[in-house]
Amino acid sequence: MYTFPSLNSTSMTTKLWIWSRSSRIICSLSLDAPPGSLFEQLTGNPFFTAGFGLAAIAAAARFGQKALKYGVEGLRRRMLVDITITHKNEHYQPLLHWMSAYHKAQSTGLDPVSNSIVNHESRGLISSLISKFTPRLHHFQLESEKVNRPDGSPITHFSLVPGPGRHLLRYGSAFMLVDRQREKSFDLTSGTPFETVTLTTLYSHRHIIEEIVLDAHKLLSQKHEGKTIIYTSQGVNWHSFGQPKRKRPFDSVVLEKGLKEQILENVRDFLETRTWYLDRGIPYRRGYLLFGPPGTGKTSFIQALAGELDLNIAILNVNERGLTDDRLNVLLSTLPERTIALLEDADAAWINRKKADEHGYSGATVTFSGLLNALDGAVSAEGGRLVFMTTNHIDRLDEALIRPGRVDMQIYIGNATEWQIEQLWDRFYAEFDADGSGRKRFVERARQLQLIDNVSTAALQGLFLHNKGDIEGAISMAEGLVLTRQSR
Ligand code: ADP
Repeated sequence: MYTFPSLNSTSMTTKLWIWSRSSRIICSLSLDAPPGSLFEQLTGNPFFTAGFGLAAIAAAARFGQKALKYGVEGLRRRMLVDITITHKNEHYQPLLHWMSAYHKAQSTGLDPVSNSIVNHESRGLISSLISKFTPRLHHFQLESEKVNRPDGSPITHFSLVPGPGRHLLRYGSAFMLVDRQREKSFDLTSGTPFETVTLTTLYSHRHIIEEIVLDAHKLLSQKHEGKTIIYTSQGVNWHSFGQPKRKRPFDSVVLEKGLKEQILENVRDFLETRTWYLDRGIPYRRGYLLFGPPGTGKTSFIQALAGELDLNIAILNVNERGLTDDRLNVLLSTLPERTIALLEDADAAWINRKKADEHGYSGATVTFSGLLNALDGAVSAEGGRLVFMTTNHIDRLDEALIRPGRVDMQIYIGNATEWQIEQLWDRFYAEFDADGSGRKRFVERARQLQLIDNVSTAALQGLFLHNKGDIEGAISMAEGLVLTRQSR
């Protein structure tokens, strides 16, 4: 509103014209009138009071808007609670999977964790009303993963996880807003976009955040129950490689009598004595080297050991393209909890490197001293570090790699002994050879052919697999193993 004083010469009185923004005259006031009547003129003038009223309403609206904004913000702060989890956080993947399981549960009526039927009726009228109007997740992202079937053939698994955006979901009688945001920037080490998930709920329901995170972990560990997760490295991060594998039964590996149990006890002792190490300031780590001819069960034993002790396996590939000494160091110091770091064919790693370099395609830049440093490097106090190395040629290994501290236990895993042959025989033919006469004849034949301690368990297993259920076939074909004989 603008005011514009003007003199009206015709009436010879002084007038004050009041103009609106649109140049319309709202009212004119006579300034020659006595001061008391000026107020009366103003209040008596319908244009003025209407304009003034409008201005007051606008000011009040603006004030109200601000007050509402601050009020909502204040209320939000007082009444809501939120938690933001980045994609690198250990809770991130479990949460996404929990949400997709939650979605499935909504359509099937089953509780995602207990798998029992969610009975809304039993919670009373209000709960069943809430259940009726529970919003559903609609915006999903399809994740696919190629995995191998037990027979080695590939299969692709699909799963729906909540896509980026906001999702409202109900947990019990509480509501929770889940906001999955994807940044434009990428994690250069893994090539994946940065992401966050923010959970928001009422302050009075804050306990459900913890419950959901616990549920999410419970759900994931249920999914992994009876399975071994195999991790491979990607940049400086460990990623689970395909779907977790079914645990390899400890009995399925036949080593020399008592050897399996001896190693198992040693590893178990290490896992149970964390505080002993920490109290004495000794780095909590232990290294094992399994050496011996190929096909004697070194790798299979490590898988069975992991299964028996509920451990996972992280495969360390020092020839990985782009892996540097620093990255290797980070990887070894950030192993997932309860995980064996496995360096297979420790001797071949460096020989293959040489060959690859000659052809100019290696790309790996881990040096031998880098590997030694990484093995000696910092160890997380919680998880510690359990390293297993395997080799078929211990003589080719550098002394420095297997000195105590890096390798604390060296175990020879040899060709099949008489005892191992008997054990393997029983695993294949026990039901057809109740009196053990077939086993006796087979061992006798193996002695004649000088197979004892000279053939690998893998070769024996191959023969038995070929003659499944056929005792006579196995005995008569034993001669074929002579060709596979290998010396220690
Ligand atoms: P290594 O690591 O010593 O070369 P693997 O563990 O890779 O041997 O064994 C190769 C195959 O032979 C696997 O399929 C495994 O099941 C079988 N095998 C070898 N040795 C044994 C053993 N001692 N007990 C059971 N299976 C064995």
